[in-house]
Amino acid sequence: MFRTHTCGALRLSDVGKEVVLSGWVQRIRDKGTLLWIDLRDRYGITQLFLETGLSDQKVIDKARALGREYVIRVEGTVVERESKNPNIPTGEIEIRVTQIEQLNASKTPPFTIEDNTDGGDELRMKYRYLDLRRNSLKNNIMLRHKLAMQTRYYLDSQGFLEIETPYLIKSTPEGARDFVVPSRMNPGEFYALPQSPQQYKQILMVSGFDKYFQIVRCFRDEDLRADRQPEFTQIDCEMSYISQEDILNTFEGMTRHLFNKIKGITFDTFERMDWHTAMKFYGSDKPDLRFGMAFVELNDLAKGKGLGIFDEAELIIGIKAENCAEYTRKQLDALTDFVKRPQIGAKGLVYVKYNTDGTIKSSVDKFYSPEDLKLWTDRFGAKPGDLLLILSGNTDAVRKQMNELRLEMGNQLGLRDPNVFKPLWVVDFPLLEWDKETKRYYAMHHPFTSPKPEDIALLETNPENVRANAYDLVINGVEIGGGSIRIHDRELQRKMFSLLGFSDQEAQNQFGFLMDAFEYGAPPHGGIALGFDRLVAMFGGQDSIRDFIAFPKNNAGRDMMADSPSTIATAQLDELQIALKATKKE
Ligand code: ASP
Repeated sequence: MFRTHTCGALRLSDVGKEVVLSGWVQRIRDKGTLLWIDLRDRYGITQLFLETGLSDQKVIDKARALGREYVIRVEGTVVERESKNPNIPTGEIEIRVTQIEQLNASKTPPFTIEDNTDGGDELRMKYRYLDLRRNSLKNNIMLRHKLAMQTRYYLDSQGFLEIETPYLIKSTPEGARDFVVPSRMNPGEFYALPQSPQQYKQILMVSGFDKYFQIVRCFRDEDLRADRQPEFTQIDCEMSYISQEDILNTFEGMTRHLFNKIKGITFDTFERMDWHTAMKFYGSDKPDLRFGMAFVELNDLAKGKGLGIFDEAELIIGIKAENCAEYTRKQLDALTDFVKRPQIGAKGLVYVKYNTDGTIKSSVDKFYSPEDLKLWTDRFGAKPGDLLLILSGNTDAVRKQMNELRLEMGNQLGLRDPNVFKPLWVVDFPLLEWDKETKRYYAMHHPFTSPKPEDIALLETNPENVRANAYDLVINGVEIGGGSIRIHDRELQRKMFSLLGFSDQEAQNQFGFLMDAFEYGAPPHGGIALGFDRLVAMFGGQDSIRDFIAFPKNNAGRDMMADSPSTIATAQLDELQIALKATKKE
C-alpha cells in the first residue's frame, strides 16, 4: 500500500495512528541528532521526524541519503508537534518515521519548488511539470477544474447538452487567421482548426438540439499577448426558440452561479448598457464599472474662447478625479506624459483644480475666466478639492485616450479592487464596421449575427447605423464573452454576405453547408461564448491567463517544454506532398 492518508489529511485528532504516506521530499533539515523532512503531495505538506537513539539508525541513514524531489513512501506514527506551525492545516502534528522506502530519485530541480521560486519564466516553462508542483500553479489548475465542473453542473441543470464538434474543419477567411492541417489522403488540401464551433453549433440548432454547450478548445493564429494563447478554451453555447433576453438571463444565471459557488459572492445588480452609452461615457465597449469617472462633454462650454486645441476639436471631454486638486506639478506632468505616450497619442492634457478654498486654477487660465471655469466644475458636479482632467480631439480618438486615462486614474486611486466584481452586459453593438484600408464592411461580431428587426431597412441606406442583436459580458473591464441572435433566414444571410463583399459564389463556397442547412427549417436561434481561461484567471485574481492553463505556449507561440513547433522529416513532408521553400533552419 502506498498510502493510508494524503499529505494534507492528518490532524491532532489522528495522534497515535500508524500511517503510511507517499510523496515528494520538499525539504530536509538535518540538525545532527534530529532530522526533519517536509513531505509534499497535491493535498499538502506533512512533517516527518527522525531522532538518533529513537529511530532505527538504518532508517536515519536512508533519510540522509535523500535529496529534494525524491519520491518516497514512509511508515510511522502520528505525534503532536512541539513547535506548531499555524500556517498549514497539518501544522499541529508530525510523523515519527519507522520505515522509509525510496520510490524514485530526482535530479536537483533547476529552481526551487516553493511559493516564491527562484526560477525565471523561461526556465519554469521548460520544466512545466516541476512548476505545476508549486502551490500557486497547482491551485490555479484546481480552480479551473472547479469552474469547469460548476459550469457543466449549471448548464446541465438548465437542460443543455454537451456535444462535441470537429477539430478538423473547413478553413474560412473571415475573422482571425486559421491554423491549417494538411490532409495526406487529399493532397494539396487542408483542414483548418476551428476558431470557434460557430457554424457547427448553428447546424446543431437546425438538427433540433435546442440547448447546446461545449467547453471547447479554439485556435486562432494571432499575435500573442498576456491574455491570449494560440489555443484557448471557450464555454460555447447555442439555444433555439429564444430571444436575446433569454440568453442574457441564462448566462447571467450561470455567472451568478459560478461566483456564488466558487467565491461565495452574490450580485445585487447586473448592469446593462448599450454600446453607444458605453462609448460616450467610458470610451470603451468594455467599461470597468468598479468606479465612476464617467466622461463629461464640454464642447458648448469650452469652445469659442480662443483656445485653438479646443476650437479645432471635434470633442472635448473630461473626467473628475475626486479629492485630487492637491496634485503637484510633478504628478500632473506625469499624467501629461502618460497621455502623450505614443500608444495613447494625446497632444496634451488640460487640468482644472477646484481648490479646497473655493478658488479655481487651471492650465488654461489665459483663455477662461473663473466664472467660465465655475460652469465647468458645475457640469461635473465637482466639489472643492476635486480635479478635472480634460482632453480634446477627434471623437473616436479622444474617447480612446480618455478611457486609458480613466483606467490609469482608477489604478492610481486604488479604485480597481481585484476583490470587487462588477458584471455588465453591453448590448446593441453596431452590426458592421467600416474598414478604411480595405474599403469594405466587416461584421463587428461575425457574419451570422442578425440585425435588430427595426433596423433592417437601414441595411440598404445606412449600413453603419444598423444595430445588431449582439451582446458582450464584461466584468471589471474585461470582455469575458460575447454572442448574438443569429440570422436564420437564408435571404437575409445572403444580403449580409453581399454587404460584406462576398459574391453569391464565394459565399456558397465558404459557407455553403450552413446556407444549405438553412433551407431545411432553421429555427430562430442565438448563442454566446465565454472565454474560459480569462474567466478562471479573473476568479484567480490575475490578468494573465497563462498560469491557468496546464501547458501554455510562450509569447512566441512555442511550447517550451516539448519544444514545438518543430520541423518534420522529409518523408513526412513527401507523404503530404508538401515542398518547403527554403526555411530559416536550412
Ligand atoms: N463564436 C463566437 C465567438 O467565438 C461567439 C458566439 O457568437 O457565440 O466569439
